[in-house]
Amino acid sequence: MRLPDWIKTPYRTGLHDTKHLLRRHGLSTVCEDARCPNRGECFSKPTATFLILGPCCTRNCGFCSVTSATPVAVNIHEPDQVAAAAAELNLKYVVITSVTRDDLPDGGADQFAQTIRAIRGRLPEARIEVLTPDFNGDLNSLKVVLDAGPDVFNHNIETVQRLYPAVRPQAGYQQSLSLLKSAKDMSPAIAVKSGFMLGLGETMDEVVQLLEDLRENGCDFLTIGQYLRPTKKNLPVVKYILPKAFDELKDAALSMGFSYVASGPLVRSSMNAEEMYNKL
Ligand code: SF4
Repeated sequence: MRLPDWIKTPYRTGLHDTKHLLRRHGLSTVCEDARCPNRGECFSKPTATFLILGPCCTRNCGFCSVTSATPVAVNIHEPDQVAAAAAELNLKYVVITSVTRDDLPDGGADQFAQTIRAIRGRLPEARIEVLTPDFNGDLNSLKVVLDAGPDVFNHNIETVQRLYPAVRPQAGYQQSLSLLKSAKDMSPAIAVKSGFMLGLGETMDEVVQLLEDLRENGCDFLTIGQYLRPTKKNLPVVKYILPKAFDELKDAALSMGFSYVASGPLVRSSMNAEEMYNKL
């Protein structure tokens, strides 16, 4: 389907400097690996979402262009590399995410914790958001991450329950909801965030049910964006949702008690994350 006019991103300058900096520190970003349409805007700010635990994921979600292959060994220098890059970018708000590492006993939780602590050591004032995998619902892994003291715990629910077999075949809808709830129960002061995409074939009734499920499971703030097909290997776009529908969903979510909602075709889970947090 032809890309509608409302999904066009302007070319930005300055992104190459950020790319060079990231490479110099030996780092990857989900911005690049997931082909985010906003990376031009974010890199030129500059900001970026650091992708830890290597470029290869043990899963194969239908919407994602991250490489699904045998993962690499954990890089023990990575926490310091991320902290050094964040300091050089002078970030006030740092987002850390990762591929899913079902091959690791703790799912990579300790690497998240060490990265949070390394950033705190270099940027004591910075806010830190972690966008984590589901750790297969392992609450010990979740506790390891939360004990390191991030400001925001983010885990994307991604889509409605009915579409999980195609969109997130190795994940569980209820498992992801209970991970969010456990994060809130374990750390009541932490801001809990989630996000999902539209345009994969969901109905509006299913989306309303998803919003209710997220609220019931401790989610404070939310991102809602349009699914864009990153490669021909990924799921096709079923529908381009009108910007007006994103606004209506935002109003519906706010009336359900979410503290803040970013909803729009180009909204992504860690886009303008700092601004969102400051508005909370
Ligand atoms: S688990 Fe995350 S990184 Fe892995 S394929 Fe799914 S969305 Fe992509």
